[in-house]
Amino acid sequence: MREFKIESMARSSELSQYLKSDTNPDLLRVDDCGLFCEAGGFHIDPWRPVSHAVITHAHGDHARYGSKLYYCVKENLPLLQVRLGEQAKFKTFAYGEKFKLGGATVSFHPAGHILGSSQVRVEYEGRVWVASGDYKRAHDPTCAPFEVVPCDVFITEATFALPIYRWDSGEKTAKEVLKWWDENIRENRPSLLFCYALGKAQRLLSEIHHLDPNRHAYLHGAMLGLTKQYREAGIEMISTTPVAEAPKTEKFGKELILAPPSAFRSLWMKRFKGVSTGFASGWMRVRGARRRKGYDRGFVLSDHADWPDLLRTVKDTGARLILPTHGASETLSRRLIEMGLEAEPLGLTAYEAEEGDSMPTEAKQGAQDEAVQEAGV
Ligand SMILES: [Zn+2]
Ligand SMILES: [Zn+2]
Repeated sequence: MREFKIESMARSSELSQYLKSDTNPDLLRVDDCGLFCEAGGFHIDPWRPVSHAVITHAHGDHARYGSKLYYCVKENLPLLQVRLGEQAKFKTFAYGEKFKLGGATVSFHPAGHILGSSQVRVEYEGRVWVASGDYKRAHDPTCAPFEVVPCDVFITEATFALPIYRWDSGEKTAKEVLKWWDENIRENRPSLLFCYALGKAQRLLSEIHHLDPNRHAYLHGAMLGLTKQYREAGIEMISTTPVAEAPKTEKFGKELILAPPSAFRSLWMKRFKGVSTGFASGWMRVRGARRRKGYDRGFVLSDHADWPDLLRTVKDTGARLILPTHGASETLSRRLIEMGLEAEPLGLTAYEAEEGDSMPTEAKQGAQDEAVQEAGV
């Protein structure tokens, strides 16, 4: 990989003055606990316990245990209660509802990532910063669509910020899953599809429902509570049964079973004889990732923005400064600068191990290598 100099991405002096003088410090900056807003006295998705934690969504690397008071949208509350426990204290808001924290005005806006996922808009002394959290622009029947929020500074995620990452629609991927499932039915093989327990599993169940509502799937125990939360939120999905409740005689030869990646090659899998395995993730876009992981099939399905949508979104916000974080932030910063925008990576590293889309280092390296070959980055 080519060397890449951070110095080249220093903010222009005019913008620096506007954003960073003594009287106008950064509205959001990284401290030991996470993304901190001094004017509001709160953190966004802190990785250590703090007094006021504003939470973008319920994935484990964003919603962490131990803070005194959590702020979230109503749609996020049931999932966060599962994650953070009954004793955690919450204040909930509607999307778009403005509230005061210290001197700052804060509001949540849909991020289109998973149920209840939010961008956080922070306004103080006439300046507006937006922290995107994880987001995507693609249609997803399980959550409110991403909303473009105009701002001065946009902190954008960059999980899949390489030109090789371009997604087909969820519907198209669900059709591929159905085709694979039907092939397995003809050969009397269980179809065991691995995907993340929060967000991806429910999106698949919902996309399949839109194609063929009479289908039925079995679920690994780790997905039961979360899927129940989605049903209670009114999300339409095909009917499901826990694997543990299947009759002892069930051979699963005609069945689709969803399970988290942690169950792959576990003892739990022994129950499924002659099984065909699949994995649904954005990382499946990388050539060789499926083979390296040992799955029979890979389905490209991500709950993060792909490369074109990252660039489009940044432009849509009209931001004067873009701070990419969480993934290939340097690659994205460099491309934005080439496009004539102001950008610099934000040093937030605690979100690397995203539960929603994690993959071993060798797959990430494979993606980097492939990106270098294909697009010269
Ligand atoms: Zn996430
Ligand atoms: Zn994340």
